[in-house]
Amino acid sequence: MIHEVRLPALTRERLTDVVVLQIWLLFYAVSNSTLDQIDCANRLNRCPRFRGRGEKIAKWIWQASESRLKPLQDFALIPDPSADKRKWVKRLACEAFRLLKKSTGTLEPLNNQNITPWQKAASDFLIGFYENVLREASSPKRKNPGFPPYIFSGYNPSTFGAENFLTAFKEENPKLSICPACDESKYSTKAGSIKTDIDHYLPKSKYPHLACHPYNLVPSCLACNQRIKKTSDPLSSQTNNPATRRRLENIFCLYREPGLWEQTYLEVSLKNKNNPTQIDSLKPKENSNVGDKIEVIKEIYRIPERWSEQVDEIEDYVYRKLEHLLSAFQVSLDDSQTLLDCFDYSLSTDYLTERGQNPFSFARAWLLAALINEAEQSLQTSSNSQSKSSALLEELELRLKQNADEVFMEEPNTVHLFKKAKARSSIENARQVRQTVKKN
Ligand SMILES: [Zn+2]
Repeated sequence: MIHEVRLPALTRERLTDVVVLQIWLLFYAVSNSTLDQIDCANRLNRCPRFRGRGEKIAKWIWQASESRLKPLQDFALIPDPSADKRKWVKRLACEAFRLLKKSTGTLEPLNNQNITPWQKAASDFLIGFYENVLREASSPKRKNPGFPPYIFSGYNPSTFGAENFLTAFKEENPKLSICPACDESKYSTKAGSIKTDIDHYLPKSKYPHLACHPYNLVPSCLACNQRIKKTSDPLSSQTNNPATRRRLENIFCLYREPGLWEQTYLEVSLKNKNNPTQIDSLKPKENSNVGDKIEVIKEIYRIPERWSEQVDEIEDYVYRKLEHLLSAFQVSLDDSQTLLDCFDYSLSTDYLTERGQNPFSFARAWLLAALINEAEQSLQTSSNSQSKSSALLEELELRLKQNADEVFMEEPNTVHLFKKAKARSSIENARQVRQTVKKN
């Protein structure tokens, strides 16, 4: 994940109840080969978390005879000659409850090629909660109801569905409107109506007990969820070799660590006579130990490869923005100090202000940082007759010449923005950002 995401307390509380209920019902089905609504209600009433609501919860299960009761009943009924069912449910419980507390250790995926009939039934039951209750419906006619209030243990609870999940996420992460995984597209519209997918970071087909887990669900863009990541498992390495399976510590874990934005920078090769600009790779910053996590993001989300494919657009945006700034503030290409201030001011908006708000801010910032570093070197040596060439200066000179008429149409700007204190601090911040590339 490029962007840091924070888990809303409401989501944590509601989905923890859902996870506990699912596990509780699997244990109930392991102990009873025939399931009975009244018996289930009575037993639920003995469990502190569900006390007093057993009848309603059991009724909710029995009501959905196809999607909830049938798979649970199948799981109870299907013979288990090797007596593995209870052990298996115990493991699911351990893994799900551990992930509520911390993101360490290993998780065992369901082997879908070698799945037993009772595992298939349990998996359908667990995933059904997401598909038929939590997930945002594909059409308004089939709107999913969300979990009813009586599932939940908190004070005065209300229904919780996809819309509640996304609203809570938006409130907890108010400055993030771009997909946290790829920084490529908005996950919500400006009008506030949220159009997005809820992605299972660890795929529900392999970890059905995490289908509704609060630490496994995150809004993502359609490209990430439906086209690129799909059901890839961050815990299995590309070779699919069980011996090289990753632990949770080796992958990016949702809601528990800063995004890669803080810990990495982007290595960029600037264009020259022979080659176009290229985005090379995501690199850990000095003292940052995120090499493994960078590998996972590369495998699962194809980052930064996806940015490379858009490098022309990203570059054009950077130039257009600078061209506009230079024109608006009437900065001459000969005034090297003001020119650098202007470049760094633009970098600070990409890196600091537009972060998480506009697509590709990260890639734009590091491309611009590389361009400014090169331009700075060129400006410092320009007093010599043999000045170094700079992609940025050459491109801007060309663009400003082409659009010269437009430039002179604008009103002269008498306020010199770059001298103001606030701008000075942004410019200084941007210079520190640029140092990252030089230091590493
Ligand atoms: Zn995305």
